[in-house]
Amino acid sequence: MTAVNKVLVVGGGFSGMAAAIQLRKAGIAVDLVEQDPHWCPLGAGITVSGPTLRALETLGVYLVVAEQGFVSDGVEIFMPNGHKVADMPTPRPVGSTVGGGGGIMRPVLARILSDATRAAGVAVHLGCTHSAIEQDASGVNVRFTDGRTGRYDLVIGADGVHSTLRETLFPEVKPPEYIGQGVWRAVMPRPDAILRPRMWLGHHIKVGVNPVSKTHMYMFITEDRPTKEHIDPVTWPQVFAGLMKGFPDPLIEALIPHALTPEAAIDYRPLANLLVPAPWNRGRVVLIGDTVAATTPHLASGAGIGIESGIVLAEELATTDDLQTALDRFHARRFKRCELVIRNSEALCRIEIDGGDKQEHGRIMRESLMALAQPI
Ligand SMILES: Cc1cc2nc3c(=O)[nH]c(=O)nc-3n(C[C@H](O)[C@H](O)[C@H](O)COP(=O)(O)OP(=O)(O)OC[C@H]3O[C@@H](n4cnc5c(N)ncnc54)[C@H](O)[C@@H]3O)c2cc1C
Repeated sequence: MTAVNKVLVVGGGFSGMAAAIQLRKAGIAVDLVEQDPHWCPLGAGITVSGPTLRALETLGVYLVVAEQGFVSDGVEIFMPNGHKVADMPTPRPVGSTVGGGGGIMRPVLARILSDATRAAGVAVHLGCTHSAIEQDASGVNVRFTDGRTGRYDLVIGADGVHSTLRETLFPEVKPPEYIGQGVWRAVMPRPDAILRPRMWLGHHIKVGVNPVSKTHMYMFITEDRPTKEHIDPVTWPQVFAGLMKGFPDPLIEALIPHALTPEAAIDYRPLANLLVPAPWNRGRVVLIGDTVAATTPHLASGAGIGIESGIVLAEELATTDDLQTALDRFHARRFKRCELVIRNSEALCRIEIDGGDKQEHGRIMRESLMALAQPI
């Protein structure tokens, strides 16, 4: 008894893959289309919070994530000169034995999940998307760019923050707006001292590192930039190294030469967020992940809430024979939690931009982590 028998997932990112894997566990047939023929995201590091690790455990990939990434507990907070000011605990997620947090290279996590998606029996079509979607009372007819057609009980849109499905179904929703801060990321060799995430809090700027494997970590720098300006990628290594120089901790200084090498793979992203009011479906098409709930990375939970939404949607579709009931329960379980992540991440971002109260920053961080550790 399930609400659907055959589902199309549009988008093979973390959210879409999570939904697809869990739907297959319930015996539901799943087609997945992913426009990237190589199915491989950018090579940056990603922080996986404790709740994200719990969600990955539900998907059945926690042990391989722990082996190919890095699992740790707690966050160390430093002044720019290397003076330690606090040890912030990361609460263990309730109902699980996973660690309090961790890190992994984004393409490594994507490969682990794409292997699990195929192993679950999802029919994956790469380099392909929809060219027409028409729904009626009992199903959705889809035409694909490779000439195929299909009929589905439900279409799950997981095509990311620039979702074309959202543009079509929710034309009233404005695109995400730049928030006044950008984030730089680099891949670095991991000094032996770095065994958990560490952050250095400067004035209007923050540096952080997080291990992503036995040998490497990634470094991120969040920087205020009042307007969304184009920064020529050719200059990124010099700009990044220049920002590191504002942090006279010997550990950071020693890594500056590495930042100037191609291996550092420096990346810059202006930050934006988006929260579409629920419900996130229009009839038999429902949106999940960044399509409707895209956060800035201040709580390192964007991928996590997308994966959780995929899991919860599949759970609800598998436990009732009524689609509307399943979608109502899905929204009831997901909207407030996604809202918490997006609003509190934005509050942290604003405090950083305004040079606001660091105690308040710490309080929001702690309370958010405690809330997110609760069951989904
Ligand atoms: C700078 C930055 C740092 C971040 N750091 C973290 C972090 O440390 N921890 C964390 O948890 N989160 C982090 N996030 C958030 C995280 O990256 C996203 O929340 C997550 O990737 C969303 O996954 P998704 O599957 O919903 O969307 P996406 O990752 O965008 O995946 C969408 C997929 O759909 C495909 N697609 C798009 N359009 C179509 C189409 N028409 N047809 C078929 N396929 C299509 C795309 O190719 C892509 O594979 C960060 C975000 C940013 C911007």
